[in-house]
Amino acid sequence: MNNAPITYPVIAIDGPAASGKSTVGRLLAEELDFLFLDTGFMYRAVTLAGLRAGIDLRDETAVTALSAQLNLDVQPAGKNEDGRHYTALLNGEDVTWALRTPEIDANVSLVSSYPGVRQEMVKRQRAFGQRGQVVMVGRDIGTVVMPDAPLKLYITASAAERARRRWRDRQQQGHAASFEEILADVKRRDDIDSHREVSPLRPADDAIIIDTTGHTVADIVADIIKKLSVIREP
Ligand code: C5P
Repeated sequence: MNNAPITYPVIAIDGPAASGKSTVGRLLAEELDFLFLDTGFMYRAVTLAGLRAGIDLRDETAVTALSAQLNLDVQPAGKNEDGRHYTALLNGEDVTWALRTPEIDANVSLVSSYPGVRQEMVKRQRAFGQRGQVVMVGRDIGTVVMPDAPLKLYITASAAERARRRWRDRQQQGHAASFEEILADVKRRDDIDSHREVSPLRPADDAIIIDTTGHTVADIVADIIKKLSVIREP
């Protein structure tokens, strides 16, 4: 067994909506004592800020200008015991749950398709990556944000399984969306995210593809840790 310290400065995790990538990424970060950044929160926060400002989200110029003015940050969940994985801050305000509504789900893929918005967010994500050992989760981390990451994972699952997981999350949060609505939203977002012109969702050529259909999160994390130790063997 090789006990050398893990020297992966960044682990890049990508995958479609509700594939379990954030849960897996967070647990992996905990296990390795890495920082964790779920980059989706940034696109969600721009969407929330746009809606609150009454901007027409189809107005690419206005949304792009707004995105550059926002102060976005994350903090560990700390003492909050409401099921959050981290605390998301928009201009200093805790918006963790405000980012998880069906309204944000319905609009975020439009906002994230704007090249100027992406450019701004990628800049911030790379700055975060420089803080050190980080697990970074999103759609384009292995392909665009951190293309030199030494370990890239692409976490996926069938659309039905992903919708079931999202439906369960929503139930726990007290949102009463039907399974069919959630399945349609997951498919619609995947379609937009995979077909946009800039940084579409796709696995990096050197990503390890992990299909989580039918597997528990604990099994998946254990499997990744095993892969890490195999990769670390001299
Ligand atoms: O991962 P999450 O579901 O929170 O992401 C919300 C949306 O943000 C995605 O559907 C996608 O449109 C966008 N996103 C992105 N690139 C990332 C992370 C998220 O385009 N790196």
